Amino acid sequence: MQKVKLPHQIDPVKSALQRSDYEGVVNTSDMVRLNNIVVSSDDYVEANVQFLKDEQGLTVFRGSLMTSVELLCQRCNEAFKQNLNVEFCYSPVQGEDEFDSLPEAYEPVEVDEHGMVNLLQLFEDDLMVSLPLVPRHAEAECTVTESDMQFGQLKPEDERPNPFAVLKELKRD
Ligand SMILES: [Zn+2]
Repeated sequence: MQKVKLPHQIDPVKSALQRSDYEGVVNTSDMVRLNNIVVSSDDYVEANVQFLKDEQGLTVFRGSLMTSVELLCQRCNEAFKQNLNVEFCYSPVQGEDEFDSLPEAYEPVEVDEHGMVNLLQLFEDDLMVSLPLVPRHAEAECTVTESDMQFGQLKPEDERPNPFAVLKELKRD
């Protein structure tokens, strides 16, 4: 089956007026930041995005992302496969005022001076934020058992918050 590539840049307002629906893929090779923090990734992120106007007339785009990556298990130090599934619901904003008046169900996304949103960057951020804080095999699949752990392989204080969680906050500034 032919994989339709999603555009990296899109005008969400125009797309909503046209009621555009996209079902396609984004190349993970374009996601440099993501690739820097995973062992390997699938070639594609399967994505679907719907652009619409809600009953208040606000532009919304929502959908889901699906891919899988290989992460390094923090318990046994071997790579394992992790499926990533992300759902999103964004509304484009320009400036502080629009920001504050947005319903809570919508996550604000800043458009540039041409009214464009960088979908590639947005999806990459979403995937990075969805990564587990401390990547580990499922207990049964890990070569290091719970009893080995008692010797202090991974102490609770080593479980730092996901550094990419701040990305979401940064986007709000
Ligand atoms: Zn493991």
